[in-house]
Amino acid sequence: MSMVSPIRYRIVLRNPAAHLFEVSVTVDHADPAGQCFSLPVWIPGSYMIREFAKNIVALRATADGNPLACHKTDKATWRCAPSVGAITLTYDVYAWDLGVRGAHLDESHAFFNGTSVFLLPAGFEDAVCEVEIERPDGARYMDWQVATALRRTPAPTRPPGQNAAETPVNTGASTAKHFGSFTADNYDELIDHPVEIGTFTHATFEACGVTHHIAITGKHRADMNRLCADLSKICEAQIRLFEPDTAAAPMSEYWFLIMAVTDSYGGLEHRASTALICNRDDLPLAHDKTISKGYRRFLGLASHEYFHTWNVKRIKPAAFVPYDLTKENYTRQLWFFEGITSYYDDLMLVRSGLIEPLAYLELIAENIGRVMSQSGRSKQSVAESSFDAWVKYYRQDENSPNAIVSYYQKGAMIGLALDLTIRQRTNGAQSLDDVMRSLWGAYGRTGIGVPEGGVQMAAEQASGLDLKDFFAHAVDGTTDLELSPLLLAMAINMTWRTPGKTKDEDAAPATIGAKIGAEPNSDARVLQVFDGGAAQAAGLSAGDVVIAVEGLRVTAATLEKRLRSYPVGSVVVFTAFRRDEMLSFNVKLQALSAQTCALTMLDAPIDAKTRRNAWLFSPSG
Ligand code: ZN
Repeated sequence: MSMVSPIRYRIVLRNPAAHLFEVSVTVDHADPAGQCFSLPVWIPGSYMIREFAKNIVALRATADGNPLACHKTDKATWRCAPSVGAITLTYDVYAWDLGVRGAHLDESHAFFNGTSVFLLPAGFEDAVCEVEIERPDGARYMDWQVATALRRTPAPTRPPGQNAAETPVNTGASTAKHFGSFTADNYDELIDHPVEIGTFTHATFEACGVTHHIAITGKHRADMNRLCADLSKICEAQIRLFEPDTAAAPMSEYWFLIMAVTDSYGGLEHRASTALICNRDDLPLAHDKTISKGYRRFLGLASHEYFHTWNVKRIKPAAFVPYDLTKENYTRQLWFFEGITSYYDDLMLVRSGLIEPLAYLELIAENIGRVMSQSGRSKQSVAESSFDAWVKYYRQDENSPNAIVSYYQKGAMIGLALDLTIRQRTNGAQSLDDVMRSLWGAYGRTGIGVPEGGVQMAAEQASGLDLKDFFAHAVDGTTDLELSPLLLAMAINMTWRTPGKTKDEDAAPATIGAKIGAEPNSDARVLQVFDGGAAQAAGLSAGDVVIAVEGLRVTAATLEKRLRSYPVGSVVVFTAFRRDEMLSFNVKLQALSAQTCALTMLDAPIDAKTRRNAWLFSPSG
């Protein structure tokens, strides 16, 4: 098709109490042989098949107002009967998934990703998309507003006297939240702008001349001024990292869409916005002067998703150019797009002056400790973990700690190791920042995908180093990274300590090598059994409910304490239920092997301190 007319969508918050959106899609010049429509099976940024089409109910088709036959051809595709002219599909979408990857609608707010609601007419991938978002009827929705980075359609000039109350016009912040018409250049852009609708709290700040919006949904008491001040530092630092000369951001505005709830944490990145879900207690209060651990975690999440504006939304693996939203898209590079982003998220907090270097070292140490606690790290490389994300990282089960490595956590360690390696071997002349800028220039600005193996090439070119061995070991290998010497060169000392071991004790406490459910008043349910541990050797399995040790009742709260009353090496009898059958197990207690990592600053020669300061304080190396 040469001149494709726009796809016209309309989304109505039809029945908030029943969690139903009503969506319609119209194509003016449908395929006369039978137009197909389909919904993505996954959402970019979250590498799992989610089958969004399962939430489409009651779909009907019309051609020029008359009913048109329509039937499904696969789990996510509908095909209309042959028809000449315009076709409209109308359908309800059930939206009751409170998270950042789907859609949610009730009488308090609406949130949706385009991947959950907008059917794509086959052959119209490059057509302009126009969307009408309608205010629901009723007094309770009078003060609802719309928060999204979707571009507002410029209003047509109206004859004088005509009511223009709801007319969206691009005249600045006052109309930024109206219901109305929106436009995307194509379907790929349409589904990359999540939409929040309701009575959210709204604030704006500028970073490098770009307006950034914060919209918070859910009960909260966050100090919006503090949030604006802190987020603007992170955003400025990141824009300047990628564009040190021009400080030019790649988007013309940006939205932080935040859902504040009691206990949840997550985010999803988009080209000009991010959807975040967080614990409301992590947000800063007006009287807070310091940064709590919760707020540090929130800032790290915001920093992570914002860094994706460059790394994965614009610098993309070639496998995602374009995305195939009908099936898994395989790449061995998620360790880079997620892991390096995880490395920079906290690093940008210290570089923008929000946290102290010691607090930053604490965050790195925690991450190292998490990676080193899982034996899966010796069985799966981060390249393999990336490739298998669809069925392993995103579908974790009780055996995951024994079987997989997180490409986020080990990826962040690789980021640290690569950064420090380049800084050390180039005597501080180059750093990972230069690699990121080089990838940004070669791939991000051009829209060309990074080929498999492209990161190593870019790193070698930017640093002038031969990094073949580094990548073979860190990315494709399963042996542990040697961080200690790299940190020492930065005058940072790494030590390991067994938790719970008191000073006057020689031996580590006794344990069984399993994770027990943490609900204090509940049964001691085995959640995970670690490879090579005492529980596994004795035959205890995930799902077993331990009711007694040596004939004495135990609960989730008392099991660990009971075990510590026995010396390491003693054999104790566990009584447990499996499928309601009572079994007993002879468990030979082992020494607790889990260790906590600690990083401390050393008083060091001036050159090591200089290198450390360049790393932690200078955004450009
Ligand atoms: Zn991420």
